[in-house]
Parts: sequence; structure tokens; C-alpha cells
Amino acid sequence: MNNWNHNHILDLSTFSLDDYKTVLELTTRFKDVHKSSSRKLPALQGKLITNLFFEPSTRTRSSFELAAKRLSADVQNFSVSSSSLSKGETPLDTILTYISMGADILVIRHESTNVPADLANYVDTNNINISILNAGDGYHSHPSQGLLDLFTLASFFNPKEVSTNSLLKKKITIVGDILHSRVARSNLWALTACGADVTLCGPPSLLPDEFNDFVLNPPPGQKIDPVNKRGIVCIERSLKDALRNADAVMTLRIQKERMQQNMLTDLDTYHEQYGITHQSLKWCKKKAPVLHPGPVNREIEISSKLVEANSIKSKLIIFPSPILSQAKRPSLGSRLIT
Ligand code: ASP
Repeated sequence: MNNWNHNHILDLSTFSLDDYKTVLELTTRFKDVHKSSSRKLPALQGKLITNLFFEPSTRTRSSFELAAKRLSADVQNFSVSSSSLSKGETPLDTILTYISMGADILVIRHESTNVPADLANYVDTNNINISILNAGDGYHSHPSQGLLDLFTLASFFNPKEVSTNSLLKKKITIVGDILHSRVARSNLWALTACGADVTLCGPPSLLPDEFNDFVLNPPPGQKIDPVNKRGIVCIERSLKDALRNADAVMTLRIQKERMQQNMLTDLDTYHEQYGITHQSLKWCKKKAPVLHPGPVNREIEISSKLVEANSIKSKLIIFPSPILSQAKRPSLGSRLIT
């Protein structure tokens, strides 16, 4: 990997176009390993990877575990429910315990913004030779999801040559609870770096006007933007306008657990205005793919019928994990808890 200078991966705002190119090239090569008979590479043999998930996760945690195993690393998984946190151990002491066991890479998810960055700072200051990978911190950043979505889109637009070029001038529409979404933020950095134009759509309470300026200034904490020219970001309040001529659509869950107060009173109206359905997909370009980072809340951000129709006529629905059957709509109290 030429010119790769990220010891930690905390936030895609620090990635240059060359970094994205490197990731897409490498991922394309690794993807073929799935098809090989051994399904494994010795790339991380002898390394210890520790997954520290202080927040729930289905897809991300299992994906990190599977990726580590496929690359022949040893893996440790930590989850809050089976840890000593309930006995009064502080998260830092928990982390130090895993560091002392010789972890080479710590994959960390935490509900508080900047915990992975603080940890990276801590290991660097103390000369501890460990890489920190952010698997989602508060609503700040989810770099692995952003890279996965970039790869998914680049492969969709040009399966023969997966490259950042295929994103150039594409219109990607992201719909839903942008305010609380680390997925949206990471996608904004990645997609605009590759020249895609991103349209954001949602009600003002979940999509403040400030998002228009998201990529206009240097990323937080940096003097200059590592990307010379980014695609543009704009806000459309009407779903029809947002989806018109879209090359791809991403829909997001309403992340109630990250809200300070209840910001939506009527979920049925929300579904009518912002839900992705067979009907609303007609406004996009033909064959526009729909991406959802999971977990899915059916009949809120996306219709159940669309979820069920994993692959329908001219539309391709891409999900990161198999869809679990959840035929019944959950009761109002639990429907947003995932
Ligand atoms: N799984 C994603 C995340 O961890 C999206 C979500 O939770 O809605 O941020």
C-alpha cells in the first residue's frame, strides 16, 4: 500500500482521493478471496484484533470479526453485557485490560463522540503500538460504513473496473435522520471526495440547513482539506425533488437513542413524506440502487414491501446483511428501539 499514512482510522474527513483509491483497489482484490476454496488469506496471521463494542451492533461487529478471521488474525470480542463494567470497572480500565493482552488492533464503538480519537491519542502519547479503528462514535463518524458504501456504489456503477472515477458527477440522495447519523457524515466525506454530488432530504428537525455547508470548509481540526475538489452537497425538503434523477438512494433509520428529545411526533406522516417505497423509487433514474446501513425500521424509512422485494424488476436493493423477517409492525413504544 503506497503512501498509506493512517495508523488509525477515525474519520473519513482525513482521507485523500488516493486513500479511497487504495481502499477500493485492495477491497476488490480481497473480494475475490470469498470465491476461493480456502476463503482465507494469511495477511494478518499472528495479529490479535479486539472488537470493543460499547454500543449494540449486529452487522458491523460481525463483519469485523469475519474480516479478521478471513485474514487469519486471532479475534477477541467484548460486549458490555458480559463485561465487568457492571461491577464498576471504568471503560478505560476495560480497554487497558485488552491492551495488556497484546492487541494489535482495537476496533471500538462507543456512544460518545471522540472516544476512539481520545484512545488513539492515549496510545500514541504512551508509545503503545496499536491501531485504533473507529466502528462508530456517537453521531460523529462511521468510517468503515462509509468505505463499504463507497465500494458498493463504485462496484454497482462499474463492476468491471471498481474505481473512484465512477462516482464522478453521480447524484446520490441520502434521506432521513441526517442529524443523528454518523453514516451520513462519513458518506458525505467519502462521496464528495470522489466527485459525487450529494442531495440530503429530511424534515428541518432532522436535517438542519447547516448541512448545506458540511464540506465547504476544511474538515474539523484540519487546516486544509486533503481533497482538492469535492462534489457539492445540497438540501431538498421534498422527497420527489430529492429523488428526481438520482443515481442511487440511501435511506437512514430514525436514531431515537441519539435524540435529546422526541423530534418526530407522527411516524406515519414521516413515512408518507420521506419513506422509500416502490412508488417513490419511480422518481429516481432507472435501476437506481437503494442502500440501507441497517438496522431497518420497516414502514418508517422504508416500506416493508420494498424490503421483501430484495430484487425487483429494474431496481436493485442492496442490503448489508440478509433481511430478517419481521412481518408484524412493532408497537409504537418499541418500533424505534433497535
Ligand atoms: N448501523 C448504523 C450505525 O451504527 C446505522 C444505524 O444505527 O442506524 O450507525
